[in-house]
Amino acid sequence: MIEGWLTSWQAMPIAGVFVVAVVLHLAIYLAWGSAVAVSYWFLREKAHAGRVLDERPLFPSQLKSELLRGSLNCGVIAVVTVLCLELSDKPMSSGPMLAVELLGLIALYEVTFYFLHRLLHTKPLHAIHGVHHKSVRTTPWSGLSVHPVEALFIEAPILLFVLLAPVSVAALVVFQVLLHYFSAVGHGNYDPFARLPGFGWLKSYTRMHQLHHAHGTVNYSTFSPLMDRAFRTHEP
Ligand SMILES: [Zn+2]
Ligand SMILES: [Zn+2]
Repeated sequence: MIEGWLTSWQAMPIAGVFVVAVVLHLAIYLAWGSAVAVSYWFLREKAHAGRVLDERPLFPSQLKSELLRGSLNCGVIAVVTVLCLELSDKPMSSGPMLAVELLGLIALYEVTFYFLHRLLHTKPLHAIHGVHHKSVRTTPWSGLSVHPVEALFIEAPILLFVLLAPVSVAALVVFQVLLHYFSAVGHGNYDPFARLPGFGWLKSYTRMHQLHHAHGTVNYSTFSPLMDRAFRTHEP
């Protein structure tokens, strides 16, 4: 059934694929952001577990501004998604192959986006990346609150992977869901493990991206601290 759905997606006219891609990006972006916000609210207010990482107030109308920008950028990233889907050569892969495609996507994304993110921190691109860094205290919806050009940067590594290696529509869809999830958690501004003994690496991972927003010159990675460790930009 899933394969049939993925095949029918590939057979759709391009305008239809674009509309479906926008709706799916929007639904996943809003759903992950809301799920992370509600679960962190529950941990903070009801379970009294964990702690807020950055207590500074949000800038005026921050939530409204982030949700508006994020929603509009779902349209921008959907353009790249459509290109990737058109270039993808098969709807589904077998279990092990799907895992290989996903690991390949994650590895290439991690390396490519690290350098793109460092490029975004250079002076000529400051005006573009400054839009994202307006959110000093982040929220689960800050991830797509970026300049439209940066929204293209966010998706560029996926297009690069599709151009370099055969990848299924299924792997592309799962990867996009993962990317939205890591974006919501990374900007969640909450450490659920803060009051537990141990879990040092997990606590460090949880505050990784918040420290990037607080200090600006550390922790450029998305999925893991490996690239930051390799290039000495990691702040634990
Ligand atoms: Zn940055
Ligand atoms: Zn960010």
